[in-house]
Amino acid sequence: MGKVFREFLLANNITSERSGFSGLYRGLYISGNISVFSSSRYVTGAVHLAQEAIVSLQTWLQNNARTYGFQGIEVTSYGFYCSLSAMATDQKIVAFLGAVVDFLNNCQGATLNACPFCGESLEGEMNVRLVGVNGCKFRAHEQCFDSYAAAVQKDEAAFRQEPTNAARGALGAVIGALVGCVLWWLLYQIGFIAVIAAIATAFAAAFLWDKFGGKNCKLKIVIIWLVTTLLLAGTMLLCYLLDVSSAMAEVGVTGSAFDMLIQLMRDDAELRAAVLSDTVVSLIFIVAGNVWMTVNVLRSQKKQSSGLVKY
Ligand SMILES: [Zn+2]
Repeated sequence: MGKVFREFLLANNITSERSGFSGLYRGLYISGNISVFSSSRYVTGAVHLAQEAIVSLQTWLQNNARTYGFQGIEVTSYGFYCSLSAMATDQKIVAFLGAVVDFLNNCQGATLNACPFCGESLEGEMNVRLVGVNGCKFRAHEQCFDSYAAAVQKDEAAFRQEPTNAARGALGAVIGALVGCVLWWLLYQIGFIAVIAAIATAFAAAFLWDKFGGKNCKLKIVIIWLVTTLLLAGTMLLCYLLDVSSAMAEVGVTGSAFDMLIQLMRDDAELRAAVLSDTVVSLIFIVAGNVWMTVNVLRSQKKQSSGLVKY
């Protein structure tokens, strides 16, 4: 962090640590990491928000995202989380913190200077703890934090109990992948390099796995990799075989189209290069689509309870 931000922290008595900062700023408990060398730069603020205040703050943050350099915004009943882009300078972050407190002071249903969970005062309370929820640091009633943690754990236990619905999910994945394959085939007919279709195959398979009631678990990753790669490879082979057999019919040659394709690839360097490059490019894109799917599943699977701490 630069001079401007250090002076801001000092002037407001906010602690700065190696990995970030946290402290009370005009009734809002702020925390975050704004180091330009960090891969995840973010600012959080803890404030109790009633339902209508969640919506107003979300709207306000979205409207101001470009001004202050936010990449992503999350608002919950106990505060907000903004991830910062490279555009967020120290000056902008200081200006943002001032503006967001001004906004919250006039926002119906937002309670500053209180326990972010229940909205009641922390003044004179015995059991006040500094706690952390997924990187957002703040002071709260210990009891409120404990019941929040218990609710999160209960949700996670309920998710573990849910059936995997692997058969239904796999059916969805196959249908989704087939849609992608048909798209690949159509584009191939008009002579397009069908990389978009390869990505669409992974997207559609993941989408329909969810829609068919498959659980968002590790098995989803395995099945979708298998289904999309096999079906797309099969579609590519089928397209080439159809081409070869129609060419064979034209010149009146009989026999196996597969054997002919192998022979053609052996004899014709140009054809071999074209088939191989199409295959490699399509597989690269199916891998790209599947990596995206894998990251999404793993991210949503990350246990929330592991982000809960008492300091
Ligand atoms: Zn409370």
